[in-house]
Amino acid sequence: MNAIVTLPLVHAERAALVRRRRDSACAELWNALDAVKDPEIPVLSLYDLGVLRDIRRAADGVTVVLSPTYSGCPAMETMEADVRRQLLAAGVRQVVIERALSPPWTTDWMDARARLALKDYGIAPPDTVCCPQCGSHDASVVSDFGSTACKALYRCNACLEPFDHFKPL
Ligand SMILES: [Zn+2]
Repeated sequence: MNAIVTLPLVHAERAALVRRRRDSACAELWNALDAVKDPEIPVLSLYDLGVLRDIRRAADGVTVVLSPTYSGCPAMETMEADVRRQLLAAGVRQVVIERALSPPWTTDWMDARARLALKDYGIAPPDTVCCPQCGSHDASVVSDFGSTACKALYRCNACLEPFDHFKPL
């Protein structure tokens, strides 16, 4: 009997984002915004997260489309300020930020590389609760809210280390 191999699916919205960036006329601005990281997870850029959705030339500057992760996420204000600062530093005269709420952001919009970076950073990625220290799946939830509202705090029952799990959404 042949083993069934399940290939990881790329979410349609993630695929669309990758195409948008590839076909964009302002590649240098996408590249500039790679320097803007999630203020709570400095190993992930807003593009890695899928929060940065689009960059468009406007009449007198640039319009940036961002999708908030969790509604009321306090990091959103910081992200917007960082995007603005980065683009102004890149020579853009005016930055308009649009918040796109539909379709709502989900953790599925992160790509595989982002999930690996999360794990290396010590946060269990959304897919599965798995201890980033020892890889054990035997863990107990300590608190539904970890260091931030978007993470839950677990304790590994194998190595006893506490760790954050990025909650799937
Ligand atoms: Zn462990």
